[in-house]
Amino acid sequence: MTPLETEIQRLIEADGPMRLDRYMELCLGHPDYGYYRTRDPVGRGGDFVTAPEVSQMFGELIAVWCVDAWDAIGRPKNLGVVELGPGRGTLMADMTRTLRAIASFETEVQVHLVEISPVLRSHQARVLADAAYPTHWHAALASVPTGPAIFVANEFFDALPVRQFEFRAGAWYERVIGLTDGSLALGLAPGSFDVSGLGAPDKTPGEGDIWEYAPSRRDLADSLAKRLASDDGAALIVDYGHIVSDFGDTFQAVNAHESVNVTHTPGESDLTAHVDFADLVRVLDESGATVWPPITQATFLQAMGIEARAEALKRNADASAARDIDAALARLTHCDQMGNLFKVCAAAGPAARPPYPFGEVRP
Ligand code: SAH
Repeated sequence: MTPLETEIQRLIEADGPMRLDRYMELCLGHPDYGYYRTRDPVGRGGDFVTAPEVSQMFGELIAVWCVDAWDAIGRPKNLGVVELGPGRGTLMADMTRTLRAIASFETEVQVHLVEISPVLRSHQARVLADAAYPTHWHAALASVPTGPAIFVANEFFDALPVRQFEFRAGAWYERVIGLTDGSLALGLAPGSFDVSGLGAPDKTPGEGDIWEYAPSRRDLADSLAKRLASDDGAALIVDYGHIVSDFGDTFQAVNAHESVNVTHTPGESDLTAHVDFADLVRVLDESGATVWPPITQATFLQAMGIEARAEALKRNADASAARDIDAALARLTHCDQMGNLFKVCAAAGPAARPPYPFGEVRP
């Protein structure tokens, strides 16, 4: 039994079954035993591999996007480049290297990293030690200084806690973690829950349907949109999820690249849920940002020129490195790999023109 499991059992014995958002928050962010507080989960030796870890092309193309977004918000002379949940710092390292090389990007940049993990912060500090721009760390978005900024979040919203409701015999019940024979187990809270007004999908639920409700994601989208609207900014959100809201259970645990039960080794497995992009778009819009319809990662990367970039890299590569570049290209863009599951959403302040390729390509 993990130390966190013992602690969660004690909490359940004292207070009763635990909501999933509280469980997820403890498993990922507990100060002593939380998954993100204690380890570097990203990469081949970790539990999952993210797009920037697959290839430098991902960060390079996002940097090119940032330059156009900076132009779209009116070329401010000072610019924050903010990343939410920067993992091992690879994306920001690839981005800053590329931004430095683009002569037309004439602005004073400060890099801000929003990160809760001390382990990953020290990794980021090492990777970004020679970064071209002054770099600052923050525990939350709220402490990032105001002012014109470009925000980037890759695989960040999926780590923010969700609640789940299950439809049974005509009513919704909250899914909770309780104790069965002394072990953690998923179950339903006893009383039904009135979800009206919480923004559930606009369709009739069937027996056993599950709806994921993510107030912490909405809060973050709300804060982000208010900044975009008041300070001239733009944001790029990349994550796995769905473009149309729907019912479904996407709460999942991953340990060493294998899917495991969500109650398996709390604090030692990654917990995530897919991002409901329709919900995110609605909140960003209602909180004052202009949002463009999300597109797939494949559409985004192809429009940004990933195939030409891969060809250029291959010109200086030996046969084995060229095969790796082709494999990375396929992994990032093929529909049966990351290409379709991952979506890309852009938002900006109301005065901005659409940043390329949003508004030009179809979802
Ligand atoms: N963007 C990176 C890493 C994704 S993993 C990549 O693409 O490789 C999720 C990241 O978000 C990690 O850096 C994790 O420590 C961070 N994180 C998770 N929850 C967070 C929170 N509530 N506040 C700030 N950072 C958080």
